[in-house]
Amino acid sequence: MQTTIVRGGRVLDIRAHRADPADILVTGDTITEIGPPGLAAPAGATTHDASGTLLHAGLINAHTHSHGNLAKGMGDLWTLELLLTAGPWISGGRTQEERYLSAKLGAVEMVLKGCTAAYDLPLEVPAPTIGGLEAVGRAYVDVGMRAVVAPMVADRSFFEAIPGLIGAMPPELQKAVEALRLAPGETSLDNMRAALKSWTLDRERVRLGVAPTIPHHCSDAFLRGCADLAREHGVGLHSHVAESKVQAMVGLQRYGVTPTAHLDTLGALGPHFTVAHGVWLDDDDMRRLGDHGASVAHNPGSNMRLGNGFADMHNMLARRVNVGIGTDGANCSDNQNVYEALRMAALVSKGRGPDVERWVTTEQAAIAVTEGGARALGFEGRLGRLAPGYLADIVFLDLAHPNWMPLNDPTNQLVHTEDGSAVRDVMIGGRLVVKDRRVTTVDLSALQRDVEAARRRLFEANAPARALYERLAPVVGRFCPGLAHMPYHIDRYV
Ligand SMILES: [Zn+2]
Repeated sequence: MQTTIVRGGRVLDIRAHRADPADILVTGDTITEIGPPGLAAPAGATTHDASGTLLHAGLINAHTHSHGNLAKGMGDLWTLELLLTAGPWISGGRTQEERYLSAKLGAVEMVLKGCTAAYDLPLEVPAPTIGGLEAVGRAYVDVGMRAVVAPMVADRSFFEAIPGLIGAMPPELQKAVEALRLAPGETSLDNMRAALKSWTLDRERVRLGVAPTIPHHCSDAFLRGCADLAREHGVGLHSHVAESKVQAMVGLQRYGVTPTAHLDTLGALGPHFTVAHGVWLDDDDMRRLGDHGASVAHNPGSNMRLGNGFADMHNMLARRVNVGIGTDGANCSDNQNVYEALRMAALVSKGRGPDVERWVTTEQAAIAVTEGGARALGFEGRLGRLAPGYLADIVFLDLAHPNWMPLNDPTNQLVHTEDGSAVRDVMIGGRLVVKDRRVTTVDLSALQRDVEAARRRLFEANAPARALYERLAPVVGRFCPGLAHMPYHIDRYV
């Protein structure tokens, strides 16, 4: 078994706001010992020179969408509902090779920016396939990163899910939208069950999850089917809950209670359950999630980019919700920089008002992006900390970078100062995936060539879907803000 001794670095202790000199012994893919400089290492151990660096546990991206990477920069003035309307144009018509490529591109960006594991919700319509899931999984394996791959599934299209929306369209658009139907729920469940049974990739590296995409895009029978599948196979369940105000309003209309309360009734909540966004969660929702040991993936950048608002991370933590931090997909964030998401998580909480006791501390934010993310991904006790028994996913930040001059408080600076530009090396499972700021596993110029070829092909292939988007956008852009401007009050609907 390969043994590596990491010498000369300073190891971040988030809670203590300190980074003291220490050496780390890595045996195989796991940290086996951390001790004072000069720590003994077995004969034959490889030395990794970490002098001049600060070491922290790999950042964990608690929510992204790998298909989004080929669509970065395609839109600007998009609400969530316009983004969903643009889906067939910006994410449709993909080959399996393009699914692989899009995931690989995102993984490369993430590792270069200090992120070592992600909760990825890819899209494949009309239903996920084993081939599509393996293509995404293989991309993470090839880059050397970890991921939970949870395909987004539903049995209603976005247009069917918003009451009254199709009726607000002229007849020819109604017809066009009907063609965007998803596969029957049984097909999606069968395909996911087959993939869960036949998964050949190392589950410590890439494992599957189940993601009923948005509760009201799913019938109750389908939501139950997803929840059962996740429990049967002991994998994560992940859903966009209370992301936009439109979602919150439609949820109340459809269920008479909040989407979270409804999911609770269906038996979907538990420690394996992750809410993506949760901007419009109320106190009762947060209490339910906390009581069930569930997680929220907080995506402050995406929430601002799509006009969804500012999630109350302080209140979530106060109600014992596990919080992870995510970028969301590159089609709405648009980068995959988890340091940026971390910084925004801290700033958004402060931007909500002047009451400092309701702010998220740098310590809480830094724990969320490491330990919180690990728990949401189902890697609690294995990822998120630098300690014996944890996987050796280590980021080495260059202390000679201006971000770290002077070194006043490493926890505060990790959250408020670092932007990814000080990342020098990244180790994942004991293997150097980034060395001297270059990714070691992927030929970037070949990646650029393949990505550009995919962009050109998709531009042509999806031109009709783009034309349809141009016609649908004015209808959705009028209808949905109308919903969002209604007062949000649960008593209206019960
Ligand atoms: Zn999402």
